[in-house]
Amino acid sequence: MELWDSFPENKLYQVKPTVGTVGNAAPRKRRDDLVLIRAHIGHTYLTHAYLLHGDEKPYCIPCDCDVTVSHILIDCYEYSHIRQKYYTVPNLKTLFEHTDLSLILDFLKESNLYMKF
Ligand SMILES: [Zn+2]
Repeated sequence: MELWDSFPENKLYQVKPTVGTVGNAAPRKRRDDLVLIRAHIGHTYLTHAYLLHGDEKPYCIPCDCDVTVSHILIDCYEYSHIRQKYYTVPNLKTLFEHTDLSLILDFLKESNLYMKF
């Protein structure tokens, strides 16, 4: 995918959640919470891991702008066709205040961004 060409995905997958894994349901819920918290504060592996690794700041080539949480969740052209299936909002404030959180998670999962948050 052109969008993430500049981003080293392999490094992302080296960072694994360190929460305990008892049973099958609990870890997923913990991951959901983590993803939503990161989305809310605008600090995710996808948008900030470059700082840890000394890489280039991730850039969205199709949209010609920096990759931020707001860009991904609200504006990015690359994901608009998937996003529209789950929600349509003008900004992050509206998203977090008026959108079912499960829809945000579903969008991230279908976009293959869930594990990058
Ligand atoms: Zn974009």
